Amino acid sequence: MRLIFLGPPGAGKGTVAGLLSERLGLAHVASGDLLRAAVQKGEPLGKQAQGYLQQGVLVPDHLVTGMVLDFVKGLGAKRDFVLDGFPRTAGQAQALDETLAKEGQPPVDLAIDFSVSRAKIVERLSGRRVCSRCQTPYHTQTLVPKVAGVCDRCGGELVSRPDDEPQTVLRRLEVYEETSRPLIDFYRRQGRLRRVDGEGDKEGTFTSVMQLLRAEGLVQGGVG
Ligand code: AMP
Repeated sequence: MRLIFLGPPGAGKGTVAGLLSERLGLAHVASGDLLRAAVQKGEPLGKQAQGYLQQGVLVPDHLVTGMVLDFVKGLGAKRDFVLDGFPRTAGQAQALDETLAKEGQPPVDLAIDFSVSRAKIVERLSGRRVCSRCQTPYHTQTLVPKVAGVCDRCGGELVSRPDDEPQTVLRRLEVYEETSRPLIDFYRRQGRLRRVDGEGDKEGTFTSVMQLLRAEGLVQGGVG
């Protein structure tokens, strides 16, 4: 099973992808996490990408695509995966399809678009915290860790993402609204686009995704 999660920042893509990874063993590939790791490590790619991340605009395709596709190639043909935050342009989507075909890997099964209202996104992102070590997401009101400021999973420190600052959130939402249409059209034309309602809590959205995957014959049995 190979999935792509589409949707605005704060739609819950990362949270649900994390649950799929935990419960079904899919590899969770988050382009934003890969970019932030490259910035943190001071890698040349990270240095080139840093300014774009800070401004909340898309990193150019020629920087992102190779990085994510190398990661995907490394997973091999047998590994199921969910891509979270990639592709973000039709060019990236095309490059992904071409790479999977060239590598003899199974194609993407579905692109799942999470629909969420603007008000909900702003509420989620303003309270979002992430683990500085393993990137697990939390929220000050709705997804509280057992010990304040500490990741339940790995004990890492919880921090706010600099690009979750309100002005940058608005910029990221604008960027999403300006750039998502061609990408959504790309998957719709191929008959691979599906929608889920991402307005509810994480278990509710996870259940909707699981129902969809069962209806599509991608998952059998009773997980979630
Ligand atoms: P995310 O963690 O998915 O919200 O991404 C954080 C930031 O990383 C975005 O605002 C972009 O600057 C950059 N980014 C992540 N994925 C991509 C991508 N596929 N294409 C371009 N920029 C990306």
